Amino acid sequence: MNISNALPLARWFGHRHSRTSPLQLLLRNRLAAAGLIVLIAVCILALITPWLPLHHPNQTALGNRLLPPGSDGHLLGTDHLGRDILARILWGTRVSLSVGISATLVAATVGSILGILAGYFGRHVDNILMRGIDMVMAFPYILLALAIVAVLGPGLLNALYAIAIVNIPFFARNVRGVTVTLRNREFVDAALLSGKGHARILLTEILPNVLPVIVITMSTTVGWMILETAGLSFLGLGAQPPQADLGSMLGEGRRLISTAPHVATIPGLMIFLLVMSINLLGDGVRDALDPRLKAGALRRPAARTRTAPAARQQPTGEPKGLLEVDNLRTEFHLDGQVHQAVNGPTFHIEPGECLGIIGESGSGKSVTAMSLLGLVASPPGIIQNGQVNYQRQNLLGVSDPVLRGYRGGELAYIFQDPLSTLHPLFTVGDQLVEALRAHRPLSYRAAWQEAVRRLEEVRMPNAARRAKSYPHQLSGGMRQRVSIAMALANDPQLIIADEPTTALDVTVQAQILKLLNRLREQKQASLMFITHDFGVVKQICHRVAVMYAGEIVEIGPVEEILARPAHPYTRRLIGCVPSVDYEGGRLAEIPGLPPQVSNLPVGCKFADRCDQVTDQCRAAPIELDTLNERHQARCIFAREVSA
Ligand code: ADP
Ligand code: MG
Repeated sequence: MNISNALPLARWFGHRHSRTSPLQLLLRNRLAAAGLIVLIAVCILALITPWLPLHHPNQTALGNRLLPPGSDGHLLGTDHLGRDILARILWGTRVSLSVGISATLVAATVGSILGILAGYFGRHVDNILMRGIDMVMAFPYILLALAIVAVLGPGLLNALYAIAIVNIPFFARNVRGVTVTLRNREFVDAALLSGKGHARILLTEILPNVLPVIVITMSTTVGWMILETAGLSFLGLGAQPPQADLGSMLGEGRRLISTAPHVATIPGLMIFLLVMSINLLGDGVRDALDPRLKAGALRRPAARTRTAPAARQQPTGEPKGLLEVDNLRTEFHLDGQVHQAVNGPTFHIEPGECLGIIGESGSGKSVTAMSLLGLVASPPGIIQNGQVNYQRQNLLGVSDPVLRGYRGGELAYIFQDPLSTLHPLFTVGDQLVEALRAHRPLSYRAAWQEAVRRLEEVRMPNAARRAKSYPHQLSGGMRQRVSIAMALANDPQLIIADEPTTALDVTVQAQILKLLNRLREQKQASLMFITHDFGVVKQICHRVAVMYAGEIVEIGPVEEILARPAHPYTRRLIGCVPSVDYEGGRLAEIPGLPPQVSNLPVGCKFADRCDQVTDQCRAAPIELDTLNERHQARCIFAREVSA
């Protein structure tokens, strides 16, 4: 089962999870919470009605006709036959609620089954089922319900059927749409390949993923269905006398509206209260459960990472190299905890240089790189301290338009997975055109020609034709070439590449590395290359910074570090790289796990996994030790180890 899609439901039903659960999200929405409270109160009243000390709802007493509310023994008065309105309202609410909810359940079940079958099997099944649904939808909605009741004969049960039938298309259409997109997803293919039958796939793979959609559709239609039931009863086609439901009470009271207004007003108010509370709640449920809204649309991250004043100060001296990063600190504030993802790395990049950033997954490489251009999501990210100096300005402190001018212009970014960063609905040529025109005043035609030229530059075979392809029509290597072409579109000074070859196979990786290296030399640009593979570092980097738990633990020229690693962690990382002439024996691995960034140790952060650890290592923070002008390491034994 696809975990990411099933999770919302699991969380909805109360599994513990550190992020905000949909229920919390729902209760944070005041209107929805108010709706929920009113609805719960009404439901409880309706449930306990049989045990309340009430008059019989159908007991007539002509001597007590049309008593006003507040009369003795009749709190809400009586109607034209002397029946107690309080009793009738409560019993009527029971009826209206149960008919509305039953109709919703019937419509949801039948509609969802039709939708799932049509969406999953497609072709003829889809055609037949959906054309049937279209026929139902071709009739005006309420007229169809009236026609159905006219055929079946008046009565509550028939009204229920009529309302269920006219609502089936809503469910069928919604569910079919979701199922069609799910059917082509990899996890369904995987289930098919594992030998599961269609029935099991529908139940275990598809259904859990469409359930949120069904719940959302139900929550937004149940109020409407109660209203329709009331409508049919109002016209005399639903509940038959003497049975009370809200619609028929309203219908009976209508004729007395001038003499005894309370007879019609009270059921009218009840309908209003009920439908209003259900709709408010339904909207809240939709907001909390809808995958698109839940993905953060309700709490949209800012266009730029939040930055503390300490990190916004302008540089005083002349910055080192092309780009200088000084004591950068980025944190995530989540559920009252502080996750220190980036803990003060300090480094610079020379013009034309390739600096490698290497470390295990989770060591803070991506967050460091994204902090440079303010790309870390806020909330929860916040840059607490540090400077990112470029052209004598601190990028963390410049205005939004200035930063936007740099992004994708002089400072370009290549992401790990080009399939998720390229827009699926535009041709790659159009996306390149967009990248070009964001920074330069070019006509569409000129930009298109330039786009094709850029694709040729990254050695895209048959570039003019490929420019008209969509991302899904290209192979992984070609897509990454497109991303590189986009990053290079405006002749950047610095290219930040975040594991650009991790998703590719080794031969394509080699091509891409060669390409990046050649382009860097041609354009005299700098490259900040993030990877977890020393083999890659060796191929294209001049210097490398080794990151661990958000800190740089060693930095220096690549040959020197490969020949004489000074930090035990670096040595272990180098030991993890298999070589072609490697013969048998176990590959080295690093035992243990990196420390949790929400609870970092005081001293050396690698201490728990180091085989040379002493008490001194854990006592106090370890400073970077300068081994020579270009080579530094954060280990008290650095000199001994490297010697
Ligand atoms: P990597 O070195 O693999 O690129 P990252 O820089 O992505 O690692 O992550 C560093 C740390 O920051 C990790 O512990 C990760 O859990 C945390 N982190 C990254 N992004 C977020 C986020 N949006 N919210 C909370 N924590 C995050
Ligand atoms: Mg990363």
